[in-house]
Amino acid sequence: MSQTLKAVRGTRDLLPPETELWNRIETTARAVFARYNFGEIRTPIFEDTGLFARGVGEETDIVSKEMFTWEDRARAQSEKPQMLTLRPENTAGVVRAYIEHKLGESGQLQKLYYIGPQFRRERPQKGRYRQFWQIGAEVIGPPSSGSESPLRDAEVLEMLATLLDEMGISGWTLELNSVGSAADRARYNDTLRAALEPVVSKMCVDCQRRAVTNPLRVLDCKVPEDQPIIATLPVIADSLDEDSKKHFAAVKAALDASGVTYTLNPRLVRGLDYYTRTTFEFTHGGLGAQNAILGGGRYDGLSEAIGGPKAPGIGFAMGLDRLVLTLQAQEAAQPAATVAKKLDAYIAPLGENLNAAGLALARELRRAGLSVELGDGCFRLKKSFEAADRVARKIVILGEDEINSGVLTVKDFATGTQTKVPRAELHEFLKS
Ligand code: AMP
Repeated sequence: MSQTLKAVRGTRDLLPPETELWNRIETTARAVFARYNFGEIRTPIFEDTGLFARGVGEETDIVSKEMFTWEDRARAQSEKPQMLTLRPENTAGVVRAYIEHKLGESGQLQKLYYIGPQFRRERPQKGRYRQFWQIGAEVIGPPSSGSESPLRDAEVLEMLATLLDEMGISGWTLELNSVGSAADRARYNDTLRAALEPVVSKMCVDCQRRAVTNPLRVLDCKVPEDQPIIATLPVIADSLDEDSKKHFAAVKAALDASGVTYTLNPRLVRGLDYYTRTTFEFTHGGLGAQNAILGGGRYDGLSEAIGGPKAPGIGFAMGLDRLVLTLQAQEAAQPAATVAKKLDAYIAPLGENLNAAGLALARELRRAGLSVELGDGCFRLKKSFEAADRVARKIVILGEDEINSGVLTVKDFATGTQTKVPRAELHEFLKS
């Protein structure tokens, strides 16, 4: 016997009824984005590897060890093979599209959202997959469009608080920090490098490398033994210049004014190199080790890093898989909220010769907006009743008599009553 094939490690199938929850989350997100004047963007699933190397940063975990990359076969002998990568995140792709389609030339702020799968070769565990879904958004534009304004940061954060509330996620925490401008970060990296020098030999090998190449990344280290050392390192807030401090103060003031609560976390630097100034994460206690529901921040230099014009921006990505896990855990704690949704009707043709008439009736009702399951005339009546009771609120019996008289027999499972309904009134009756 040949070996049974399975979904690849770190990937999974999403099946009904769970996919209903996924759709509900996506529908809520689309509705909220529309109210805040965001339009949808869909970028390709794979991009030139250079986009992520230059955009996200060579030294990040994502680029250095987690990307699914392959060499595309050259089309002609003279052409160099191109390195391609399954997108590990979507911000770099959106900014590439912003540059490629010259979206900045309108002078308007671009407010774009996306929903789609991302790919990272991480060690799979609950809440962490190799193919996972993100809902994200970006606000980007030329400086003249107000894209640098702290108001945009605060508005994005306020929108996120609304989005999570409307999705029904309760008990989230917003952690907020500023990583300053590129110059602030360079200064902070020097300060960190100096502070790490006497202690780094006691840290993990990754930190020893990062201490030389990109000391900021040391703050991302998850090795428990390194945490006491990390706790003694200087914080970035002390390296911010006046403009960065003013920007961050304005973000906090606007959040305070709109009543969005947050916690300051001076060590929140995020795992991607493109962030500048405001960085944030929304966490949830119910998620265990993978407690981040979403993360984001400002990326004022990203467009230029990948060859575009100056286009400051701010964005976020939320993990759809983790939103689903959170909502499932909440619903398990309140089982009354999860009443199974049933179809409007189940049509039971009495005999295989009535299957065609059954399909015609189902078509009529479905096109009128009803949800309908169609049985099969080869079923005995008892089997039809059992099948119908599982999925629908009412069963419609379709026999020769019903066809000839134009009057159908409908049984309501909740009340147990059986009613004769003229075909012309069937739609109204089933809807009631
Ligand atoms: P990042 O793009 O790393 O800032 O991640 C943004 C959000 O995406 C995180 O807060 C998670 O909710 C989600 N996420 C990132 N990586 C994974 C993964 N491997 N599996 C599931 N969700 C993920």
